[in-house]
Amino acid sequence: MAQSVDQAAQVSGQVIEDVIIQPAQHWAKVVPQGTRLRFIDLEGQQAIDFLCYNAHDPSDRYNAADTMKYAGTIFLTTGHGIYTDMGHKLFTVVEDTCGRHDTIGGCCSAESNQLRYDTPSTPNCRDTFLKGLAEHGLGKKDIVANLNFFMNVPVEQDGAMALVEGYSQPGDLIELQAEMDTLAVVSNCPQTRNPVNAFNPTPIRIILWHP
Ligand SMILES: [Zn+2]
Repeated sequence: MAQSVDQAAQVSGQVIEDVIIQPAQHWAKVVPQGTRLRFIDLEGQQAIDFLCYNAHDPSDRYNAADTMKYAGTIFLTTGHGIYTDMGHKLFTVVEDTCGRHDTIGGCCSAESNQLRYDTPSTPNCRDTFLKGLAEHGLGKKDIVANLNFFMNVPVEQDGAMALVEGYSQPGDLIELQAEMDTLAVVSNCPQTRNPVNAFNPTPIRIILWHP
């Protein structure tokens, strides 16, 4: 269940970083093994696009298909691992008050917004990812199918999928425990042309801390 943002921001350990990220802004840092990365949806229904890499070898990176296969579901939650191409566990989901995150919808881009909505030059997660990746010497070739926290992409029995409004409320959080040194790259989604942010992109809070 959602809680107040103040409650959601309480940690029982040492805070390394505590930041607010606005829509279309990025956060790209190495998350050391043993630390935790907490994402708080401050106003609710806000999608957070997420990529992650083995910090010591970024060619060994998040693998969406394997992560889903190991979890046995497309909807990751508490207890599931986030894995690389080489079978390394980057993170374990250790807390999730929302219960609905996306593994298949990918990120928005200027190009897909042009194709789907006929709107040129929109702010988008792909370009935001590239800014974060550039800080670590990475680029276009390093973008793979990504995770989306608090984004809701249901799949019906007939295979139909949709991008719809999220379940998250103000104060909902998902927390990842780093199982190895991991580069995490975040884009707070600025999408306004479909319901994933309830047509109103809002800030998120990221807390990196050591238990
Ligand atoms: Zn986006």
